[in-house]
Amino acid sequence: MATDAQVFPASEPARWTYLDKIRTRPGPFTNRDLFEGKNVAENMEKMKVLVIGAGGLGCEILKNLSMSGFKDIHVIDMDTIDLSNLNRQFLFRHADVGKSKAEVAANFVMKRVKGVKITPHNCMIQDFDEDFYMQFQFVVCGLDSIEARRWINATLVNMVDEEIEDSYKPLIDGGTEGFKGQARVILPTVTSCIECQLDMHAPRAAVPLCTLASIPRQPEHCIEWAHVIAWENEKPFPKLDNDDPAHINWLYQKALLRAMEFNISGVTYSLTQGVVKNIIPAIAATNSVIAAACCNEALKIASNCAPCLGFPDNNYMMYSGNDSIYTYTFKHEKKDDCPVCGNLARELAVDPAWTLQELIDSFAARPEAQLKKPSVRAEGRTLYMQFPPSLEQQTRPNLEKKLTDLGLEQGQEIGVTDPAFATVSFKFKLKFTKKT
Ligand SMILES: [Zn+2]
Repeated sequence: MATDAQVFPASEPARWTYLDKIRTRPGPFTNRDLFEGKNVAENMEKMKVLVIGAGGLGCEILKNLSMSGFKDIHVIDMDTIDLSNLNRQFLFRHADVGKSKAEVAANFVMKRVKGVKITPHNCMIQDFDEDFYMQFQFVVCGLDSIEARRWINATLVNMVDEEIEDSYKPLIDGGTEGFKGQARVILPTVTSCIECQLDMHAPRAAVPLCTLASIPRQPEHCIEWAHVIAWENEKPFPKLDNDDPAHINWLYQKALLRAMEFNISGVTYSLTQGVVKNIIPAIAATNSVIAAACCNEALKIASNCAPCLGFPDNNYMMYSGNDSIYTYTFKHEKKDDCPVCGNLARELAVDPAWTLQELIDSFAARPEAQLKKPSVRAEGRTLYMQFPPSLEQQTRPNLEKKLTDLGLEQGQEIGVTDPAFATVSFKFKLKFTKKT
């Protein structure tokens, strides 16, 4: 078995034959006003592109971009390689466990694809400023964190200067979850952005307790029942340890009995483990399909050989491999009340009887906000600040007060900030759900 990057010199020239046929000759969808086949290869060699993430998607993306003729690639990833990555993050070997993902991935691809330069950055995306991001032609994201996506999205939107064409940096974003995935292209301020599309990443709804208690319909409901209700009633062990096979097995047996009672099939030990630990399996094939779609967009943007996603309309491709294979491409509309690329305040339904604490807690769960550490201001007044500690202490008494007692009214605008999105102030307009 191959253990290291190998180069087969005989394949070198042949490697580019088919790529050059695609990128140097116009096809039926090519816009001939933009396309210059004879200069494409040379232009692409000079382009600097940035990849964020060197994990499941990132390994695929780095390999694909290198094989698509890009020669100057930077990659950012702050993670180190874990043993459990090796089944799908194919640029890593056993001996690499513990090393930087960005560095090992860069070295592997450089060894394998002659002439490509990959510069690794073993750090957080937040460690760089706009000057750094400005040097790239476009950004490709292969991330599993919504927070990181929102940060880079807000940064790229902020960088746009209408007078300077080069300040528009297209963002190609791939994401996978189990058998599902998506690929989308965002042209900052022009097309719908990640924040406009935030509801596509809504936190998974919890199953209502009554379903678990009375009418389970799925194997997961039986497992949740064992996990939430049976465990509490019977306390077979003092404290549930998700990593203890005896504990998982107890839950599995309980769930199995319940599933038989309701004639539900599909409860297994590994599903029990997955539900209890809230694991979504990472699937190599899904990563491969989504990374390919993203790099296809990169090649189109770089060469103009065909219009990329978003031109003219459809900007979002979703993929589902759950039952056979299904893809659907549609237009996700830009939102006027997007806190990042729009300028209107977004409506926020609230109960006027809530305390400020209840309002603050609600931001984490709302699909349109998903803010974990929000600070709130209204009409120049600070209602609550998470940082610094002195201001937190000063504003803490407000948490117990009702919204109406704080002077908040129907239709009023509030400003919300969160340390995860330093540059953005989210504007919301209060919409009371009850009469005061
Ligand atoms: Zn937006």
